[in-house]
Amino acid sequence: MSEIRERLERETELGASIGDGWWPFVEAAATLLDAAYPGWKSGQIKEKFAGLRFYITPAPWPEEKVRENNPHAREEDLERWEKEWYAAQNAIADSAERACSGVCENCGKPGEVKGDGWIHTKCDECAAGREQRREEMWANA
Ligand SMILES: [Zn+2]
Repeated sequence: MSEIRERLERETELGASIGDGWWPFVEAAATLLDAAYPGWKSGQIKEKFAGLRFYITPAPWPEEKVRENNPHAREEDLERWEKEWYAAQNAIADSAERACSGVCENCGKPGEVKGDGWIHTKCDECAAGREQRREEMWANA
């Protein structure tokens, strides 16, 4: 298991519980966030309605430092930069969510939304394995 996944599983405030197939996308987004926005925090990583949900608490806006580096910045620019600072971090997390659509949560191969009632994104192979396990469970009950 990668170091970053271990950290996210340990530190995500409300838990990180997704299949192996989606982790590379979350790891990629977290790597970008670490590089550009140190201090961000992972809030929750989960599957919902067959899609990835990656909720973060963005790193706080370093207003003092920005003012120091840009002594002539206008207030309206500072306000805009602050908004963009937060939006950019959320966009990175959102990009992982979008990238996972159509990817098997289990193995990372191309997949599609399957199931009725409890839906999930799986490839045919993993979906078949799931059916098989369910049948075995009933057979052993
Ligand atoms: Zn699969």
